[in-house]
This record gives sequence, C-alpha cells and structure tokens, in this order.
Amino acid sequence: FLKNRVALVTGSTSGIGLAYARALAAEGAVLVMTGFGDPADIETQRRALSDASGQEAFFIPADLSLMESNRALVHAACEQAGGLDILIANAGVQHVEAIDTFPAEKWEQIIALNLSSPFHLMQTAIPLMRASGWGRIIVTASIHSQVASPFKSAYVAAKHGLLGLVKTAALETAGTGITVNAISPGYVWTPLVENQIPDTMKARNMTREQVIRDILLAAQPTGQFVTAEQVAAMATFLCRDEAEQITGANQMIDGGYTAR
Ligand code: NAD
Repeated sequence: FLKNRVALVTGSTSGIGLAYARALAAEGAVLVMTGFGDPADIETQRRALSDASGQEAFFIPADLSLMESNRALVHAACEQAGGLDILIANAGVQHVEAIDTFPAEKWEQIIALNLSSPFHLMQTAIPLMRASGWGRIIVTASIHSQVASPFKSAYVAAKHGLLGLVKTAALETAGTGITVNAISPGYVWTPLVENQIPDTMKARNMTREQVIRDILLAAQPTGQFVTAEQVAAMATFLCRDEAEQITGANQMIDGGYTAR
C-alpha cells in the first residue's frame, strides 16, 4: 500500500531503524537509508531493500548531530528518490552515567542527535509534505519520553523534549494530510541496549546477568524484550490511510513498562 511513497529513515543501518526500513520496503515504499556502519554491510542492506520493494533504495551518509547535515539530507533524499512522503526520525544514542560526572560533551551530543536532529529534519520536510498534501512523520521516542531512569539524564531529557516537539508539530500540521506521532518502545534488544550494559554494570555495581534480569527485563511486566519488528509494524500502521486521525500521539510498545 506504500507503492511509490518515498520514506527517509534515519539510523536505518542498525536496530529499530533497519526494521522500519524493511517493513516499509515490504509495502513497496522507496527507501532512503542513512546511518553509520561498514560500507559493505550497508550496501548489502540497501540491495535487500531494493529487492524487497521492487524499487531502487538509496543510501545517503550524514552525521545528524550537525544541524546542516539534517537539512542537506532531506534535500538530497528528495532529489535522489523523487520526493518525500514519510520521515522517520529514529537515529539516537545513549550514555549511562550519574549527573555528577556526566560529560558535558555527551550531553550536547545526545541533545543534538536525539532532539535537535528531528526538529531540523521536520523543519525541512514539512513544507515538502504540505506541498503534496500528504505526509507521515514518526519519531522513535522511548518509555523515557514518559518516565525517567537514573543515570540517563541527557537521554531522558531529550526524549521528553521530543514528545513536546511531536505534539507541537502535530498541531501545526493538523488537517493538512500530515500526521506526526511518536512510537515509544520499552527495551528492544539492539546494539544501543547491548552497549549500555557495561556502563550500567559500573553505575549500579552489578554483573551483566543482573543488569539484564534485574534492570532491563524487570522493568517490563511481560518479562520479555520488545522486538524491532513489532516496533516497525506500528510505524507501518501509522502510514496507512486508516491512521489519518492519529496525530500528536505517543504509541507505547513497552510490555507494560509504563502501566505501573
Ligand atoms: P542502534 O544503535 O541499533 O541504532 C542507532 C542508529 O543511529 C544507527 O543506524 C547509527 O548509525 C545511527 N547514528 C548514531 N549516531 C548518529 C549520528 N551522529 N548521525 C547519524 N546517525 C547516527 O539503536 P536502536 O536501539 O535501533 O535505536 C534507534 C532509536 O530507538 C533511538 O532513537 C533510540 O533512542 C530508540 N529507542 C531504542 C530502544 C531500545 O531498547 N533499543 C528503546 C526505546 C527507544
């Protein structure tokens, strides 16, 4: 149902972003990938997306912690793929450390990528979507858009802020054919979660097994990780015409994390 729709997914070289890209390609969308990674792996993924959708997929490199790269990326995507219908602002990083010693440059980096990048992407994409009268903007927020965890000050602040941005953008675009929503997963087993285990072990003085069992899985009443494919299925639904009245919403997929 997404045949000929162009989708730009940031952070689509890994984890949840790659799952979004695969799910949208399976519906026939033209994919524009971006993110860091090994060039040979990225090329393999790009080809797989082309094969899945039956239309050429593109890869455009960009460091989205830099303001100008966001604008340039949207323009390049639009030029190469012939338009922009779906924007998924998903790229994000984490750093786990107490506020007392949290490095200021980590704070700046997380705010730049997790919060400012979605703003710059939206600012460039919304006028293009207005012109065509249809658009879907989705951000990957997190349960940390609603609740906090210790040692994640920058991430929690960025994700709370991201929800404010989504709500504001939804109001500004309401009735134009554009919807703007957040998807908020609980813990999904991706490199982002795997990489924070050593710092969490240090911050909480725990073993790897304790962090997985007593911090990650204990937070989700289901006792299970969310899968990237489950998150991607929600994004695909938000792109359907049936979802046109869903805007400014925060779709939780968290195994009950925020229910208690
Ligand atoms: P991941 O580490 O697998 O992927 C992150 C992606 O962002 C990669 O493609 C990476 O190359 C890209 N990226 C990193 N720095 C970048 C930069 N400066 N410029 C451009 N791209 C950059 O992580 P993931 O778990 O798939 O996370 C994706 C999103 O989901 C993030 O916003 C994260 O906060 C959010 N999220 C993840 C979880 C989880 O449990 N994994 C839960 C809730 C929300």
